[in-house]
Amino acid sequence: MELLAKLDAQLQGLHDKNQIRKRRSVESACAPRVMVDGRELLAFCSNDYLGLAAHPRLAEAMQQGVQLYGTGSGASHLISGHSRAHTLLEQRLAQFLAPHLEQAAALYFCTGYMANLAVLSGLAGADKDTEIFSEALNHASLIDGARLARTALSVYPHADLAALEGMLAASSAANKIVVTDAVFSMDGDLAPLPALLALCERHRAWLVVDDAHGFGTLGENGRGALEHFALRSPYLVYVGTLGKAAGVGGAFVAAHRTVVETLVQRARPYIFTTAAPPALAHALQASLDIISGDEGRARRAHLQALVAQLHDGLRLKRWRLLPSHTAIQPIIIGENDETMRLSAALYEQGIWVGGIRPPTVPAGTARLRITLSAGHTADDVRRLVTAINELERT
Ligand code: PMP
Repeated sequence: MELLAKLDAQLQGLHDKNQIRKRRSVESACAPRVMVDGRELLAFCSNDYLGLAAHPRLAEAMQQGVQLYGTGSGASHLISGHSRAHTLLEQRLAQFLAPHLEQAAALYFCTGYMANLAVLSGLAGADKDTEIFSEALNHASLIDGARLARTALSVYPHADLAALEGMLAASSAANKIVVTDAVFSMDGDLAPLPALLALCERHRAWLVVDDAHGFGTLGENGRGALEHFALRSPYLVYVGTLGKAAGVGGAFVAAHRTVVETLVQRARPYIFTTAAPPALAHALQASLDIISGDEGRARRAHLQALVAQLHDGLRLKRWRLLPSHTAIQPIIIGENDETMRLSAALYEQGIWVGGIRPPTVPAGTARLRITLSAGHTADDVRRLVTAINELERT
C-alpha cells in the first residue's frame, strides 16, 4: 500500500542515519541489576535516582492501595475518578512544598508530560495576550505544552539571562510565562533559578520550573531545586514528577491555590483524561515519607558520593564528561556511530548505558547518558569507570 510504503521509506531513512531506536524488554524490577534476555545487566540508565522503584515499603503500600481502592479510578477527576487517595497525596505535596510557595496547593497528574501540557496551556488561557519564553534545552513536553497553548513563543538560548531579559523587556504581552527545566535532562546542569526568579519578579512573569530530575534528589529534605536554591515566590509554578526519584509514577503541579484551581477548571490535559489509579497516589504517600525522612537523606548523601567517585575515577582525553553535579552524568562522544558502538561495547560487558543521539540532543553532541542511583554501590561505579577508561584507550 502506498501509505505504508511512505512510512517504510521514512523508517529506512532513520536506519541509514543510525537513528533507529530499539526497546529492550526488561524482565525484572527497575533496579541497578536488571534481567534482559535472560542475562543480568548492571544498569546506569534509569531515572530511579533514589532506588525506590522496587522498595519493599512502596510495594507494600501499593498492595494496600489496591486493597483499599481497587486497580482503576474508573473516571476522570471531575466526574467520579477523584479518590480520597488523590486528595491526601495532594495535601501532603502542598505541605511539603509550602516553604517555597505562597498559599500552596498541589494537583496530581498521570504523567509529567501531561502536567507540562496542562500548566502551559492553562496559564496561557488566562489572557489572550500571552507570551511564553522557553529555554532552548527544555524537555519535549514543555515544547509541546507551549504549542498547545497557541500563544506567542520566544526561545531563549541555554542559560542566557541577558538574552531573556532583552526578550522580556521587548515584549508587550500582558501575561508573560518563563519556563525552564530545573535540571536539564540530557546535560545534568542546573538552571540559574535565583537570577531567573528575580528577573521574572521584575517583569511580573510566571516562572514555571520543571523539576522532573531534581524533586527528591536535591535539597536537604528532597524538596528539589526550590529547596536547593532556597527560593520562595508567588510567581513560582512548580512541576515535580513522581516516576523518577519518587519511584512510582505520575507528576504534580504545586503553586498558589488560585493557579491550581485554574488548572482544575481550565486545563484540558487534566480534565479530559481518566484519573491515575488511586493505588499509585496511596503508594506515593509512603514515597514522600521516605524522601523527607532520614532514609531519604542517607540515600541522597550516598548518591552524591557516587557522583564524586565517578568524577574522580574517569580519565578521559578524547571524550568529555560534562560538569554536572546531579545524578545525570553525560559523556559527550560526538558522532552517532561511535556513541552507539561504545554503548554496545559496554552492553557486551554487561553494563547498560544509554546512547543519546540527535534529535534528542544537538547534532555532533551524541553522548552516553549515565544516570546514577542511590541503589548503586561504590563497586558498581568502579566497574563502570574501569570499563569506560579502558574503552577510551582502545
Ligand atoms: N520533564 C522532564 C524534564 C523530563 O525529563 C520528563 C521525562 N523524561 C518529563 C518532564 C515527563 O515526565 P513523565 O515521564 O512523568 O511524563
